[in-house]
Parts: sequence; C-alpha cells; structure tokens
Amino acid sequence: MNKDQYIASLRKLNLKVYLFGELVENPVDHPMIRPSLNSVAMTYELAEQEEYKDLMTATSSLTGKTVNRFCHLHQSTEDLVKKVKMQRLLGQKTASCFQRCVGMDAFNAIFSTTFEIDAKCGTEYHKRFTEYMKFVQENDLTVDGAMTDPKGDRSLSPSKQEDPDMYLHIVEERKDGIVVRGAKAHQTGALNSHEHLIMPTQAMKEEDKAYAVSFAVPSDAEGVFMIYGRQSCDTRKMEAGADIDVGNSEFGGHEALVIFEDVFVPWNRVFLCKEWEFAGMMVERFAGYHRQSYGGCKTGVGDVLIGAAALAADYNGAAKANHIKDKIIEMTHLNETLYACGIACSAEGCKTKAGNYQIDNLLANVCKQNVTRYPYEIARLAEDIAGGIMVTMPSEADYRDKKVGPYVKKYLRGAVGVGTENRMRVLRLIENLTLGTAAVGYRTESMHGAGSPQAQRIMIARQSNLEAKKLLAKKIAKVKDSENK
Ligand code: SF4
Ligand code: FE
Repeated sequence: MNKDQYIASLRKLNLKVYLFGELVENPVDHPMIRPSLNSVAMTYELAEQEEYKDLMTATSSLTGKTVNRFCHLHQSTEDLVKKVKMQRLLGQKTASCFQRCVGMDAFNAIFSTTFEIDAKCGTEYHKRFTEYMKFVQENDLTVDGAMTDPKGDRSLSPSKQEDPDMYLHIVEERKDGIVVRGAKAHQTGALNSHEHLIMPTQAMKEEDKAYAVSFAVPSDAEGVFMIYGRQSCDTRKMEAGADIDVGNSEFGGHEALVIFEDVFVPWNRVFLCKEWEFAGMMVERFAGYHRQSYGGCKTGVGDVLIGAAALAADYNGAAKANHIKDKIIEMTHLNETLYACGIACSAEGCKTKAGNYQIDNLLANVCKQNVTRYPYEIARLAEDIAGGIMVTMPSEADYRDKKVGPYVKKYLRGAVGVGTENRMRVLRLIENLTLGTAAVGYRTESMHGAGSPQAQRIMIARQSNLEAKKLLAKKIAKVKDSENK
C-alpha cells in the first residue's frame, strides 16, 4: 500500500475506540490521534521512495515478492542490521514511535516458535501462521503485536488471580475455534493497526495453560474495543490552530488498553493453544527482537533531540561555550552507543530452526538495558542546554496576540539574527520529546517498553556464562582446585 491507501484502509475499519469516556466516531481524523497515524503512514511513504527501497523493502521468503520490511521474516544477519537502520531512519523522520515494529517483531517470534511447537507436539500452528504471514504480506498490513497483560497482583500467577481476566485467557474451546477474554495493556499503535496479534505475557506453568494462547483477530472483531491512553500535554493538539505549542504537530505515537470481551477466534488464526511449555520461548523471542528494535528507533529520535539541543544552543548564542560543545558530544556518544548495541546484536544473530533469523539475545538485552538509562541522560542534557525558558515560555496564542505578542517576540529573542518564533519552535520540540506527548516514546517507553529493566537483568544473568568466565580467570591466575579442599 502507499500512504493514501493505508489511510483509506483504516477508514474502512469499524474500530471501537473510547477517549475521554466517549466513543470516537472517526479516529482517523481525530486531532489527538491523527499524528500517530501519520507516523505509521511514514512506513508506507518511505517504502515508495527509491532512495529508501533497500532499507524499507525486502524479498519475501514465502512468496518471492517484494514486501515492506515491516512484514518481513528476516532471512540473514544483513536483514537484521537493515531492520535497525530502517528504524533509525523512521525515528529521524517522525521524532516519535512509528508503532509498526511490534507486529514485525511478533511475526518473527511466532514464526520460529510455532515451528518448534509443531516439531514437538505434532500440531499445525506453523502452517497456519505461514498462511497468516502470506495474508499480512500480500495486504501490507500494520499489525499490533500484543504481549503485555494487566497482571493484577504480581505476587500471584495467572490462574491464582482474584479476577481470572487479569491475564488474557481461553474461556471456551469450540469445534470451530476458541473464545478468549482479557486485555492487553499499553498497546502501541493499536488504533492504527489492521490486526491484533496476541502472544502470552510470560512463561506459564501447567496450571496456567488456559493463559498460554496466541492468535490473530482483525482490530474491529466482535468483542474487541480500545481505550485510548492519555499522554502529557495531549490536549494541546485539540487547541484551535495547534502548531508551535505542540512541538511536533505532524507526528506522534499512541498506546491503548485493548479489551477482549469474549472474542471468537477461528482455528486458522490460533497459533498457540495451551502448550504452556512454549509460552516462555515466544515471550523471550519477541522481547529479544523488540529490545533490538530500541537500538534503532530510540537513536533516530535521539538524533532529532540532539539536533534540537544544538539548535537551541545556536539560538541562545551559547553554541561556542566549551561546556555546551562537550554536552553535545556526550549526547552523541550515548546515542551512538545505543545504536552500536542494536547493530551488534543484529550482526551476531543466527538462524532459527524455522529458517528466519533471530538476534543475539544477550546483546539485545544489553542494548535495551542501556536504553533504560541513556535517553534519560540525553534528555537531561537537552534540558540543560535548552534552559528554563523551555517550560516557562508563554503560549503560541500570546505570541500571536495583538497586544502582548510584540512583548513575547521582544523578550523571548535570543541570539542576534534569530527569529523568536524559530527559537520557540525548537524549545517546544525539546519539551515535546522530554516532557510532552513524545516523552511517552522517548523516556518512559525507554524504561518499560520491551520489558522493564529487571526483565533484561534476568536475561543477562541467564546468558552471562559466569562459570566459563571463572574458568578463564582460574587459568590465568593458575588456581589449583586441589588447594580449595
Ligand atoms: Fe517501533 Fe520503537 Fe515504537 Fe517499539 S517503541 S514500536 S520499536 S518505534
Ligand atoms: Fe515500544
């Protein structure tokens, strides 16, 4: 699809979306939602442009046809590297979360996991999922890869919760399919997706097998509805003529609480049904891919933030100060470190039994662990350079006002020769990225998206191969085990 076809395809969906307690008639044109749609549309637009075709498209391993890379099953480490580069590019172009990666990461995780389930259990999930992938590729769909359950009381397993719906689960198995109930929380791009592709949220025990479920449904399926997530400063987008104060008036991201109220799923869209031993594998693989993803998207957004901070310094007349130069260097160093991790875990990837490629899991977890920290430091430095005016500056309406506007223009002036409005625009962009709507994607999502920091530390511990490291040290130090008796 091209950009316009994508937007037209969303208009055809009969989504049930709630925002501020009301059903939204037309999510596509809603001023608070639309910027997030524009970000996803960019994944279609760039794929049409000659200079980006190598990054944005790939040859399908299933049909041999050209597909958008967001619908691709990675066939090599080169594909994995290109994925990260594509994400950095999109971060640079949108300065926000462009949402489509969750589907791509789910495709690759489910493709390889279903292959291994079938090999062990004699099921036919992989065949079904391969057919589903052909459907996705053929129609160039955006798919919400959905993992995170609300989880209720964290000290209790899914089946021990007071409310059995705190984890999405199978309530009925029928001849023609299954019926599911529950919710997926903070679903990136849910309203801009044609389909929801569900995975379990964690490894399961046998007693929790009704919660070990993976399936796909159209996003307007009977029983599915969404409640839009608030973002800091979101209603600025609703103000008449919203422009400067929004910081990034064209692009954004969104998350929603997606509810599944007894939703029927036909068998050909079920990819895991109670094989609880494989829930952990699916989760781990999806998380690994999405932890790799952050080495791309967050660095692209970081590029914009570093650029904005450097502009703010220019516009303040402070660009030549040594401490400012050093702060920009530090921001660049941190940002490129994240990118290096994204590239490294891709270059060190390997082939799965199903034939697609997965990342080096240890390095992907190191990547995301750094992402839980560095964007915060980059944001801190950007705020330092921007100055307090970023958060105390009068509104665009005052700037445009006949009476007080000239005063705003006069007293918000920075370096000689720089227009006040340009200075305001750059400061609002920094505000948007560090404290406003985009801070969801750049800051808090850096912490919690693709798993909170502790989730990565568990994976790092598991893969650190400490015993082998001890042996290395023993050998160099000439340790004699016999002396330890
Ligand atoms: Fe893609 Fe990054 Fe958004 Fe995840 S947070 S969907 S990787 S842009
Ligand atoms: Fe994310």
